[in-house]
Amino acid sequence: GAAISTRGLVHIYRSEGHDVAALSGVDLSVRSGEMIGLLGPSGAGKSTLLTLLGGLFRPSAGKIYIGDHELTALTVKELDRLRAREVSLMLQGASRNLLPYLTPRQNVEFAQRAARRDSADLPDVGEVLDRVGLSEYADHHLSGLTPGHLQLAAVAVAIATDPGVVLADEPTSQLDHEARDTVLKVLADISAQQGTTVVLVTHDPQVAAVMPRTITIRDGRIGGEGRAGEEYAVV
Ligand code: ADP
Ligand code: ADP
Repeated sequence: GAAISTRGLVHIYRSEGHDVAALSGVDLSVRSGEMIGLLGPSGAGKSTLLTLLGGLFRPSAGKIYIGDHELTALTVKELDRLRAREVSLMLQGASRNLLPYLTPRQNVEFAQRAARRDSADLPDVGEVLDRVGLSEYADHHLSGLTPGHLQLAAVAVAIATDPGVVLADEPTSQLDHEARDTVLKVLADISAQQGTTVVLVTHDPQVAAVMPRTITIRDGRIGGEGRAGEEYAVV
């Protein structure tokens, strides 16, 4: 996995003539292979932080390090390469991470081709689907899958390239307990067994409770850090 850190991260959205400060100086450190929960009220800046870590857009100020790379110093081409190979970003809502007219298997194959890596270095497609428990549905069209199975397909896509980092925005919201537990187990396993660094945004106290470490964001700042059970405590 790759360590993640930010220094003095600031992000301001310009919206209809006024500015919205989404992040106001965030210093975050996540060790390689660690799994953390990112918590905080709606509007706190969680999605902004996660998408900046994923390289979707550039911060207004500050630095972001993923492993040896400083994201704001990369060219667009280098950033694309890092995103395709090293960093999987799961946006909120399973379908935003999937190509709708393809099957789960085809989605995983597509993600692997996009990484432009030697296929010998990539995990076996069947094993990826098996890992998320989707073997039985691997060749079904997405339109026939339940929300839980769609999210599992999105997890399969995220882990298809054996990335160093998985960033997941509310990957368990609106899932039944069984699908939620499978999503959490797969992410915990890749962290523990493959050393993948996992950052998971959640509102769900039951999900926060199983995270080895949590960080709380409020009003664009890190407002509390703790272990399971103390996730809403402000330091
Ligand atoms: P979250 O569950 O993270 O709070 P939101 O509902 O705040 O999600 O945001 C959903 C989408 O809308 C995101 O892509 C976010 O960037 C965008 N968004 C949120 N707030 C605004 C805003 N004030 N103006 C424009 N886009 C926004
Ligand atoms: P969270 O994920 O914690 O709900 P967000 O990162 O979605 O928080 O949003 C942080 C702040 O930035 C909120 O005030 C939100 O309305 C605002 N915001 C998010 N996306 C946009 C956007 N695209 N344009 C303008 N404001 C936005």
